Amino acid sequence: MKDNVILKVYKYFLPSAWRRYKGYFIIRFLRLIVNTITPFVPILFMPRIVDELVGSRDVKRITTYVLVILITEYVLNNLNGLFGNILERYSQKFENYYTALMSGRIMELDFQLTEDKKALDQIELAKNGMSWYSGGLNGIVEPLFNMATALLTVAGVVVIIAGQAPLILLITLVLLVLSAVINKKMNQIEQEQYAKLSKINRVFGYMGWELTDFRYGKDIRLYGAKDMMVNKWRNYSATFVEMWGELSHKLISLRLLLMIVDVIRDFGIYLYVGVLAIWGRISIGVTTQMFTAAGTFYNSMRNLVMGYQDLCKRTHYANEYVKFMDYPAAIMKGTKPVGEGPHTFEFRNMSFSYPGADVEVLKDINLTLTPGEHLSIVGLNGAGKTTLVKLLCRLYDPTEGAIYMDGVDIREYDYEQYMNVFAPVFQDFKLFAFSMKENVLIQAKDTPEREAEMTKVLDKVGLTEKLSTLSKGVNTYVFKHFDEDGIEPSGGEQQKLAIARALYKNAPVVILDEPTAALDPMAEYEIYRQFNDLVDERTAIYISHRLSSCQFCDRIAVFSDKEIKEYGTHAELVNKKNGIYAEMFAAQAQYYQA
Ligand code: ADP
Repeated sequence: MKDNVILKVYKYFLPSAWRRYKGYFIIRFLRLIVNTITPFVPILFMPRIVDELVGSRDVKRITTYVLVILITEYVLNNLNGLFGNILERYSQKFENYYTALMSGRIMELDFQLTEDKKALDQIELAKNGMSWYSGGLNGIVEPLFNMATALLTVAGVVVIIAGQAPLILLITLVLLVLSAVINKKMNQIEQEQYAKLSKINRVFGYMGWELTDFRYGKDIRLYGAKDMMVNKWRNYSATFVEMWGELSHKLISLRLLLMIVDVIRDFGIYLYVGVLAIWGRISIGVTTQMFTAAGTFYNSMRNLVMGYQDLCKRTHYANEYVKFMDYPAAIMKGTKPVGEGPHTFEFRNMSFSYPGADVEVLKDINLTLTPGEHLSIVGLNGAGKTTLVKLLCRLYDPTEGAIYMDGVDIREYDYEQYMNVFAPVFQDFKLFAFSMKENVLIQAKDTPEREAEMTKVLDKVGLTEKLSTLSKGVNTYVFKHFDEDGIEPSGGEQQKLAIARALYKNAPVVILDEPTAALDPMAEYEIYRQFNDLVDERTAIYISHRLSSCQFCDRIAVFSDKEIKEYGTHAELVNKKNGIYAEMFAAQAQYYQA
């Protein structure tokens, strides 16, 4: 099971990392050579110095040995430091690269998953998993090289020890197994605690970042929410500290045990090698050599075992990233190319409930939208109007029945191409904290023709006057995240910009979802009317809980109790006896009759 994770993670990261960052692996390899050689310098030369000291005491030879040790160690240590610095720099590059990949994936994640707690948790696990928990790509590659270094060193040291004092190997191995067991337990405790921390981190993220965003400022101040926030923060913060405390408490006795194991091992080896020396089996030089080699053997064996445990731990964390990047799609995606418009849409016996909720929001909907038709969807708040549009735009898939475009189930179309059919302005639309121009053009490259087209659109939505008051014109930033001179547009201005963005997209179907519930009926009517003028021949859907857009629409669908209760032209519905629409119209007529 574990090996599968290890393989999966390395298979995911290594080939692409090698293709992109060959230099990193070359430096890693050079460092492997340096680190393997380093411990052998004292092991091979120290006994010669000692034997020389207790033997012929040739100053020239002793000086040569000392110089060899000093110079080699100096060079090797410097190389090691230099390579370390280079690898560190790569670490930063990796972090940027994998964060960017993940952000891309988050942005293209099926919309439905952005409300899914499991997916949100997975994002948090992935973020942490690929940063400080695993150390990123460098973090997962490092144990591999550490293990290779350790293995080569062990092989060399075993050859040296086996001929002189083989019992060292046995003593070391037995006690090593003991430390490994203790280490494993420590890792297990850490991992359990890490899983618990991910939820708390998400809450902290919300409290720390989102709520300090100044756009929450009004609500926090006016509702006196500061105390509530601070208290919540304190509570979570206390839980956080408590969890870390719990972790170190659990680890402390195990750390102590590890130290005891170390002492026993040293004692055993000194006793054994000491006895061999006293019996005259080994020279004084070899005695010192055995002590150093025993230390190196132990360290390398431990590095080998710990390297493996480290590798398991780090790949386990990095696997959270892989799991997120491979997160299963929430909706079906087809490959059929979307043809040129105009398009006909048809809802056939379509029902829908939100994922994870049992209640049906829409039931057995049958509705056709012909090319160029302007449809008004009315009904009380919560009747399912926005949901219908979200389904049409494929933010969700129907639970039963289907939606067809030009006779083909919309799930069969290429997702991106299908998305391009729509330009919706949702009730909760969001502008980006970029320039006004970027907000309208979005992905389109900035060319003179496009700029001219954008100016036209901005003029149509009535933003020309506002723009003339801004010294940077369309290059003015919206909000102040990136530019101190950014503006905080009024609700109406934001909406105009959002409408400009929708019109600029030049999609065959435009959708306007209740511009804002705060507008009075007349103002709302005006917005719909102006919008309708701008829409021209395109297919349009207008949503409202009032009748603002009904008079200039071709058809009206009245939603109530999850269903379409009435459908027809204004003239047909307004005269229907006891009709919902007729009743609504009678109540609201004063707003819409000239
Ligand atoms: P309308 O646009 O007519 O005001 P909506 O389509 O927004 O109505 O909502 C219809 C119903 O679906 C409401 O009861 C609402 O609470 C519920 N609903 C809306 N969005 C979600 C969601 N993301 N998850 C669960 N229920 C939702």
